[in-house]
Amino acid sequence: MTSPLRRDDLKGVVPYGAPQIDVPVRLNVNENPFAPSDELVAAIGRSAAAVASELNRYPDRDAFELRSDLATYIRSESQGNVTWENIWVANGSNEVMHHLLQAFGGPGRLLVTFSPTYSMYEEYCRETFTEFATVSRNTAYEVDQAAISAALELGPDIVVVCSPNNPTGTVLAPDILDFLVDSFHGLIIVDEAYGEFRESGTDSAIKKYAGHPNVVITRTMSKAFSCAGLRVGYAVANPDIVEACRVVRLPYHISAMTQAVARTALSFSGELLDHVALLRNERELLATWLTAHCFTVLPSGANFLLFGSFADRHAVWQGLLDRGVLIRETGPTGMLRVSIGTPQENQAFRDALLRTVE
Ligand SMILES: *Cc1c(COP(=O)(O)O)cnc(C)c1O
Repeated sequence: MTSPLRRDDLKGVVPYGAPQIDVPVRLNVNENPFAPSDELVAAIGRSAAAVASELNRYPDRDAFELRSDLATYIRSESQGNVTWENIWVANGSNEVMHHLLQAFGGPGRLLVTFSPTYSMYEEYCRETFTEFATVSRNTAYEVDQAAISAALELGPDIVVVCSPNNPTGTVLAPDILDFLVDSFHGLIIVDEAYGEFRESGTDSAIKKYAGHPNVVITRTMSKAFSCAGLRVGYAVANPDIVEACRVVRLPYHISAMTQAVARTALSFSGELLDHVALLRNERELLATWLTAHCFTVLPSGANFLLFGSFADRHAVWQGLLDRGVLIRETGPTGMLRVSIGTPQENQAFRDALLRTVE
């Protein structure tokens, strides 16, 4: 029931979210299939206990130690020249984006992004009263120079590029980012939620643009770090941009528990990134298998693949679900998205898919 007291623009609007269905193989929301190791679980227990004894106190409002640890991680993972002053952290990169739009969007301001892409951008705009527009990606679902030019003709205040892009997996070419940075002086947000899954040998936007006056790169611990349940995302940005986020955040927005657990997970980045490497390899194996079985599959720099093409994709989605494998019905017509699971889960997906389409 919609309350008649709701804001007019929210009347009849339903909450967004993928179905949370309890099945044996869940490959629908790009989670990391590997649970934290026993050692990490034990270490989290110890850090949580230490924090528990001080829960009568508010947490560090500026999450200084967590931001410092994230900066250390980013220096090694992305070769970004950053310190804690370049890092903003919040409850998931969803909240980071909210802060960015609260501080840099708002009434009379326009955000442009490139479709098909992450559907949440439109919601962040709605909630922050920021105008929203999209420009289509090319036929390969890439953002090219023509798309950038078309976006800039709309006169945006903010341009968002998701790379690797959800749900297509496609990666923004470095020269296209250079072109955008050269030709646009508003806020550029590169959403690298899947950054760690990029092909080895390719650079994160962080390497070149960390701390640039108008470029923000957002990251998350939800995917590569197996911490979707923790809710920690962060931005790598110029200190002036970080300062703007501090103005709009709610006081004590990151709990002491979250800060402590995130720091512990970061101290296990070696073993967590080993899983990322394994998943990248699984992605390539699955892409090769799909191609060999005459499916179309897009090249992906993320922990998922977009594949098809199906005359009735819903029937395929349902057929997989009937066989205990949940994937996502999203993206361009006829296509489906599957998250990369453990080798066993990926095998279950292959078996279920063949039985579904035969
Ligand atoms: C999963 C995802 C996020 C991460 O959201 P969190 O709030 O950090 O869990 C951000 N952007 C995109 C495109 C995603 O797919």
